[in-house]
Amino acid sequence: HALTIAIIGRPNVGKSTLFNRLVGRRLALVDDTPGVTRDRRAGIGRLADLTFHIVDTAGLEEGDSESLAGRMRLQTESALNGATMVLFMVDARSGITPMDRHFASWLRVQKIPVVLVANKAEGTRGMEGAYEAYSLGFGDPVALSAEHAEGLGDLYESITETA
Ligand code: GDP
Ligand code: MG
Repeated sequence: HALTIAIIGRPNVGKSTLFNRLVGRRLALVDDTPGVTRDRRAGIGRLADLTFHIVDTAGLEEGDSESLAGRMRLQTESALNGATMVLFMVDARSGITPMDRHFASWLRVQKIPVVLVANKAEGTRGMEGAYEAYSLGFGDPVALSAEHAEGLGDLYESITETA
């Protein structure tokens, strides 16, 4: 696919939940390169009439030979490899953390289109957190609830505007 989307962000923000929702049962394409397979899950995502290749960032529980920060960086770089767009996900409930800001400054120099996604935004508390994400400098965040399938229409609009 011309459109290859990588879901990036610190652990536990809901990346895999969104990946599973977009891919559904079409999980397939696995990269066979040794050392890469473990670090990414890829599939065909679908959102209304839009079809795209989508890559999830691996979980940190896999492998323990490196420091947490180093491993996170490698897994993120692996997910980003070949991507034409990034969904940068933060957690609207926990608020923006130093690690989110670290991801943001790292992403800024990658020269790749970024859609900022504030997940777990269901309910009023979530909406306030989504507003805070604006300070990351990637424009208006898409307020999303991957778990409850809310905000997918806004996500669709952001992806098509950014692509
Ligand atoms: P990842 O580490 O970024 O891949 O995060 P996961 O997809 O594994 O999700 C981490 C936790 O957040 C899980 O307990 C999910 O059920 C929860 N979660 C994911 N999406 C949402 C959401 O939209 N709202 C809420 N409240 N929880 C969510
Ligand atoms: Mg995950």
